[in-house]
Amino acid sequence: VERDADVLIEGQHICAVGRQLLEGDAVPGSLTVIDARGQAVIPGLVNAHTHLYQSLLRGLRDDLTLEAWLNAVVFPFVKQSRAVYPDREVMAAAARVACAEMLKNGTTSFIDMEGSCDASWAAWREMGIRGTAAMVISDKGLPEDMLLSQAAAQARLLERLQGGLEAASRCGLLSFMLAPATPLMCSRGLLEWTRETADRFGLAIHTHAAETAREVRETRQATGLSPIGWLDANGLLSPRTTLAHCVHVDAEDVATLAGRGAIPVHCPKSNMKLGSGRAPVPDMLAAGLPVALANDGPASNDLLDMFEEMRAAVLLQKVQGRPEALTARAAFCMATENGARACGLNAGTIDPGRLADLTLVDLNQPHLTPDHDLVPLLVYCGKGSDVNTVIVDGHVVVRDRHLMLTDEAEIIKQAREVGCRRYEQAYQTRNNIQGRHSNAKEP
Ligand SMILES: [Zn+2]
Repeated sequence: VERDADVLIEGQHICAVGRQLLEGDAVPGSLTVIDARGQAVIPGLVNAHTHLYQSLLRGLRDDLTLEAWLNAVVFPFVKQSRAVYPDREVMAAAARVACAEMLKNGTTSFIDMEGSCDASWAAWREMGIRGTAAMVISDKGLPEDMLLSQAAAQARLLERLQGGLEAASRCGLLSFMLAPATPLMCSRGLLEWTRETADRFGLAIHTHAAETAREVRETRQATGLSPIGWLDANGLLSPRTTLAHCVHVDAEDVATLAGRGAIPVHCPKSNMKLGSGRAPVPDMLAAGLPVALANDGPASNDLLDMFEEMRAAVLLQKVQGRPEALTARAAFCMATENGARACGLNAGTIDPGRLADLTLVDLNQPHLTPDHDLVPLLVYCGKGSDVNTVIVDGHVVVRDRHLMLTDEAEIIKQAREVGCRRYEQAYQTRNNIQGRHSNAKEP
C-alpha cells in the first residue's frame, strides 16, 4: 500500500504510479485530474461468475437447496422468457440494472454465464463496463420443455457466438467464453464438441462444478468420476478454464485442478444461501490455485457487491475455529488479481502497463475511520456504497456515485416495469413462490 501517491493513466493503461509523476507543478491542459485525497485507489473488483438476468429475481425463496430452487425460482422465469428467444427485453433490462449496481459497487468486470444476447452486450457497452459472456450450453438435465438436442444446442450456440464475436470486434470491453452448464448437463459428445470449438475460436471455458454433494454423487454414479475428474477426462481443464463453486472437491480434485492450472471461482454467499456448503478455499490456495471470487446470480446472493463477498469469504472460512484459514489480504487478491486472471485480463493490480480499471473508495466514513491497515479495513468494513469513482479501460464511468454514461432512474424504472410484468407471467400459477404473487405489483 502506497500513501499519498498518484496514478497516471494514458489511454487504456496505467503508465506510472508514485509521487511527482509530472515534471514541475504545471498540469498539462490535456490531462484530466481527479483529486482523490481521502480516498483509497484499488484495482477494479472482478465478479468472476454471475447470471445477470437473475437481477430481476431478487429476494425470492430462501428455503431451498440448489435443485429445488432451480425448479421453483429460476426455471419458470427462464421458460417464459425463452418463449421469445432471445428475450431482448428481459436481457436488456436485467443487464442494465445489474451493471448499474456492479459499477456503483466498484466492480469493473464480470463473467456472465447464461442468458446474454446482443441486447445484453449493447447494455454493457453503453454502461462502459467490461464483460465476458460465457455462452452456456447443455443437452441434458433440464426439464423436458427446455431441453435441446446436442445438434440443436450446438447450432444455437454457434449462431449466437458468430454475432458475439462480431460485436466483440467492435468493442474491446466485450469477450466470450464457452460454458458447459455443469459436467453432468452435457453429453460426452457435447463436451468434446465444446473443447474442439473452444480450440477453434481460441476461447476459454467456464463452467459450474462440484457445487452440491448431490451433483458429485450423481456424477460419480453416471461416470465413475468426480465432476472435476470427468471434466479432466474430457480434456476440459487448462489454465483457461474457470470453475464456479468447487465446494465439494476432495484432495484428488484439488491436485487435478492444480496440475492443470485451472481457476476455481468461489461464491460464498450463494453457497451459504442455498445450503450448498463451504468450499475448501484455504486448501485450494495452498495448492497454488489462483482462486477467484464471485457473487453468482442475484437470485441466490442477492447482491452484486464484491465488498460483502470478500467479507463473507473470510468469515465463512474462520467459522470452524480457524481464524487463520483465510486472511483479508487473500480475499482481496481473489477479488482483484485472481479475478482478472480468471477473465484473461492484464489487470487486477495497480502497476504500469496494466489496464486502467480502478475503483476509488471514499474513506471519509465513520465505519472506515481510522485507516491503520487499509486492505483488512476495506475487507471487514468497506461497503459498495463507499465507492465514489470508477474507471474502466481508462474512462471514468462513475463519478461522485453517479453513472456517467446512463440514466440510473430510467434503468431502475425499466427493470421494475419489466421485472414485475414478467414475474406475474412466470409464476401466476405458482402460489408457493413465497406467497408474494398477490403483492407482485407493489414497488
Ligand atoms: Zn452460477
